[in-house]
Amino acid sequence: MVLDPPVARPLVGRLAVIGIGLIGSSILHAVRTRRLAGSTVATDAAPEVLARAKELGLADEIAPDVAAAVKDADLVILCVPVGAIGEVAAVIAPHLKPGATVSDVGSVKGAVLAALKAHLPEGVHIVPAHPVAGTEYSGPDAGFATLFKNRWSILTPPEDADPEAVRMVSDLWAAMGANVEVMAADHHDLVLAITSHVPHLIAYNIVGTAADLETVTQSEVIKYSAGGFRDFTRIAASDPTMWRDIFLNNREAVIEVLGRFTEDLIALQRAIRWNEGDTLFELFTRTRAIRRSIIELGQETAAPDFGREHD
Ligand code: NAP
Repeated sequence: MVLDPPVARPLVGRLAVIGIGLIGSSILHAVRTRRLAGSTVATDAAPEVLARAKELGLADEIAPDVAAAVKDADLVILCVPVGAIGEVAAVIAPHLKPGATVSDVGSVKGAVLAALKAHLPEGVHIVPAHPVAGTEYSGPDAGFATLFKNRWSILTPPEDADPEAVRMVSDLWAAMGANVEVMAADHHDLVLAITSHVPHLIAYNIVGTAADLETVTQSEVIKYSAGGFRDFTRIAASDPTMWRDIFLNNREAVIEVLGRFTEDLIALQRAIRWNEGDTLFELFTRTRAIRRSIIELGQETAAPDFGREHD
């Protein structure tokens, strides 16, 4: 594993991570490896996750509950599913140190910002964030220190956010290897609806459709999956709780993008029905160029077949 050299001083005094899954444990690995916090404390709702986090030595301290975890913390990062953020914010509110900063990693930002604002007291700074990085795995064993390297982390601070708090969260993500961008929460939700949320919905849908087809057997679907289906199954294996919460909390943007997607799909269906080869060829040429730009930006490998090994 190649990491940048540790920074000279911790960027955060005491860091509390709530939710020790893929993202929470990756933050803890990155922070500890690069010594970005004076001390770390972590907690989770699941007792087996707490035990596993202790075994893995993910934080200096594993707290028994969220109230204990946030006591004396300078920065609290909520790494729980989007639908649980409001409930956790309500529980931690009376235990936060005045002047503490609360951030999160939720994949939806408008609903999260509203939930944090509704529950957190005056004098606590709110700086929501979304690292656009992940895998289809969950839990404390899934994390690794380089997950955020060369990936974007989008901060969506409210307009009246404290600049020092925004700077601390931004510096932390940059030190974990991420490229940081700041944008309005609603704009984030629209961008992510097209780049992440609707693509996941399409993957869940096509894998579901294949599973329900009666004229093609399940074993045939699995046997011939390398024809394209297999790549959808990776996305469709993503955590059900996380993705249920994303769709329920980014309803408007997802429905808007889905409307456009459905219209375009019908246009393609029409082009196929009426033998409009030029229409298909022109679209497939444009989409190829989009993939090339993603590779040029270093967000994907140029290796054939996503870098899979072949004999
Ligand atoms: P994960 O691996 O499933 O971990 C989430 C952890 O939070 C679980 O251990 C869960 O415990 C715990 N939890 C749930 N409710 C809690 C509560 N009320 N109090 C304390 N702990 C609680 O999930 P993840 O992939 O790390 O995702 C966490 C967040 O990151 C989500 O908001 C997601 O939108 C965001 N995110 C994920 C990705 C990704 O690709 N995975 C990428 C970017 C952002 P239980 O298992 O007992 O529920």
